[in-house]
Amino acid sequence: MNRLLLALLLAALPCSALFAETGVAETGAENPLDAKRAFGYLEKVCEFGPRVSGTRGMTQQRQWLVEQLEELGAEVQVQKFKGRHPESGKRVALANVIATFRPEAQYPEIQRRVVLACHYDTRPLADRDPNPLNRRLPRFLGANDGASGVALLLELAHHFDSVPANLGIDLVFFDAEELVYQDPRDPYFLGSQWWAQKYAEKSNGPKYECGVVVDMIGDRDLQIYQERTSYSWQETRPIINEIWGTAARIGVQEFIPRVRYEVRDDHLAMRNIAKIPTAEIIDFDYPAWHTLADTPRQCSGESLAKVGYVLLEWLKTKAADQLPGP
Ligand SMILES: [Zn+2]
Repeated sequence: MNRLLLALLLAALPCSALFAETGVAETGAENPLDAKRAFGYLEKVCEFGPRVSGTRGMTQQRQWLVEQLEELGAEVQVQKFKGRHPESGKRVALANVIATFRPEAQYPEIQRRVVLACHYDTRPLADRDPNPLNRRLPRFLGANDGASGVALLLELAHHFDSVPANLGIDLVFFDAEELVYQDPRDPYFLGSQWWAQKYAEKSNGPKYECGVVVDMIGDRDLQIYQERTSYSWQETRPIINEIWGTAARIGVQEFIPRVRYEVRDDHLAMRNIAKIPTAEIIDFDYPAWHTLADTPRQCSGESLAKVGYVLLEWLKTKAADQLPGP
């Protein structure tokens, strides 16, 4: 997750007032997502160490990620491109990973596709660590800010078969969301901007009806407010309402139907360059943000499973939207 533009705290509201609005479960169904497996993915990603763009940890993670996605039945494309290292000025090899489920070539009858995305790089330095010495150490692990998105999307992919077959689903893992050593000198979002540009230039290939970006959704103390930009765009507000409405319906109270933060993230390129209506799901109340304390201990499989459950149910609703009537 990158810098925060506006942190608009609703300090006057007690937590109980916020939670009171989220509603209760109507379905009685159980969450099919596997919290333990999801957390295992998060731990595995963190075992690669820091995954800074262009480094060995990133390459190892990418190889592992591609294997996992192929095992899950996806058609996987590694979209390579070059960036410039903000410190040395040298060229850096970067790559987005694109996983297509129900690809067009095999499923020509599927007319509708959605894209779910996260970043899979980690910030080079823990620039907000309370100890100034730690801010120069290349040890930022990014369990929530980096690994959580990967873990969630991998776990979610185990359940795509339960989504009605008229919806194609693609996952995109962006590189270089924050190959940033110095704010505001260094640019964010190299991966999503590259992907979005290629998407916009391509006349054939999949066209997405909408998109969702997940970031920092593994916090064991989960509270997900609506992101201000996603809510303000006319074409993405319905997505926000659908997702938070789904959460209320299935009783996931951690989705709080109230706008709180404005966060710049990969959804900006997806919406502004690729022109795909894309909403952001992020828990920005995270004290370990950009510190060395952003480790698996701060995260939980239950949080990942809850966010995955909401997304899975939302995908099912989306697919069912245009199924032929009885
Ligand atoms: Zn970040």
